[in-house]
Amino acid sequence: MAYAYDDQNIFAKILRGEIPNDTVMETEHTLAFNDIRPQAPVHVLVIPKGPYVTFDHFAAEASAEEIADFHRVAARIVAAAGIAPGEGGAGYRTLSNAGMDAVQEVPHYHMHILAGRPLGRMLQPA
Ligand code: AMP
Repeated sequence: MAYAYDDQNIFAKILRGEIPNDTVMETEHTLAFNDIRPQAPVHVLVIPKGPYVTFDHFAAEASAEEIADFHRVAARIVAAAGIAPGEGGAGYRTLSNAGMDAVQEVPHYHMHILAGRPLGRMLQPA
C-alpha cells in the first residue's frame, strides 16, 4: 500500500506558515525547529519540506538532493549544539517514529535530535 499524505497535519501547517514554530535552521528542502514539548535540553525536530509520511517513504521517494540536504542540516545542528562526540561533545540520539507501534503522533516524516542529558538505553521494556 502506498502512503497517502495528509496535508492537514500540524507540520504541514507549520511549513505553510499557518502556525508558528521556533526555527533552528532552514534550507531549500529542510526545516528544523524546537520540539514544543522538549524531552531533553536539546530536542530539535528535522523535517523535509516535501510530503513524506515516514522514514521509509522519504528514503524511497525523495530525491538524492532532498535526502542529502536533510541529513546535512541534522549534522549542522549537532555540530552547532556542541554535542558531536567526535568534537568532544557528550553525544546525542536521533530517532524517528513510524506508525502505530512507534506511536507516531504527526504523520509527516521527522527526525528527533535529543541531547543535553544522559538519555538512558535505547528502549525501555514494553
Ligand atoms: P512523534 O511522536 O515522533 O510523531 O513526535 C511528534 C513530536 O512533535 C512530539 O515530540 C511533539 O511534542 C512535537 N510537536 C507537536 N506539535 C508541535 C508543534 N506545533 N511545534 C513543535 N513540535 C510539535
